[in-house]
Amino acid sequence: MSFTLFADARLALARDSLAGLSTGDALGAQFFLSGPAPEQLTEATLPPPPWEWTDDTEMACSVVAELAASGSIDRDRLALAFAERCAAQRGYGPGAMLILRLIRTGTPWPVAAASAFDGQGSCGNGAAMRVGPLGAYFADSTARAAAQARASAEVTHAHSEGIAGAVAVAVAAALAARARLDGHRPAPDRLLAGIAAAIDPGTEVHRCVQRAIGLLGRPLPRVVAALGNGSRVTAQDTVAFTLWVAATYLDDYPAAIRVCVQAGGDVDTTAAIAGAVVAAYTGVGTPGGVPEAWLAAREPLPTWLP
Ligand SMILES: [Mg+2]
Repeated sequence: MSFTLFADARLALARDSLAGLSTGDALGAQFFLSGPAPEQLTEATLPPPPWEWTDDTEMACSVVAELAASGSIDRDRLALAFAERCAAQRGYGPGAMLILRLIRTGTPWPVAAASAFDGQGSCGNGAAMRVGPLGAYFADSTARAAAQARASAEVTHAHSEGIAGAVAVAVAAALAARARLDGHRPAPDRLLAGIAAAIDPGTEVHRCVQRAIGLLGRPLPRVVAALGNGSRVTAQDTVAFTLWVAATYLDDYPAAIRVCVQAGGDVDTTAAIAGAVVAAYTGVGTPGGVPEAWLAAREPLPTWLP
């Protein structure tokens, strides 16, 4: 089916994905702060509100604001937005803080991004954690989603793995939002294969997404042992795991977030990524979607977001 997506429809898809991202981030961060998660995350064991969101949400809001303003990513403007809105208390990693400080004080983003990690550039999961809503925005073109995800990643992540992680997540969200419009849930293996086809085949992220296909239906500890859970905060040990979660629980947002919490690791970010992809398919307040009560418990999004 071929169709035209108008600007309002694109933005609505991106906003639903952002609701899933920010709620996953904010709920996941509660367990990062308070230690081990309960064995089962039920309505009775949910932490008391408000759930404060972290860097994942702050940066994702800048991506959505950029798309709302101009319909595509202008790298100079996005770099400056990331740098100027960066609030240290939102849990940014030291590498990200350094890059954003350089940009804020006048270093061009290509220089700042390339300077990270002894000149290798960042392969962290930070470009992937903020990009799900961008993928949903480009639900009509995985090629456009991939190209725009790359542009959004490059301003902070010069390493090929950091970029591949962002491309993978954006394409996943684009396919999820497309499936929602088509009214047909893709089989988990087809979804993961579609994502893998869009990623640079020379990357570890690509190999991990391929490996995730063979791990569908396997128990969580085995999946975490094979794919990681973000504990090294790299794209390689974060993205494939989150896409395994999203493919497995594409029609059940609460289940996807519970699995991220149970897996441990970089929980705010794994829940943000999986939540963004799943919410692009389920929406908010729908059966299996982002629960209204969870959204109400999440701290409100920044007032500068249009
Ligand atoms: Mg975070």
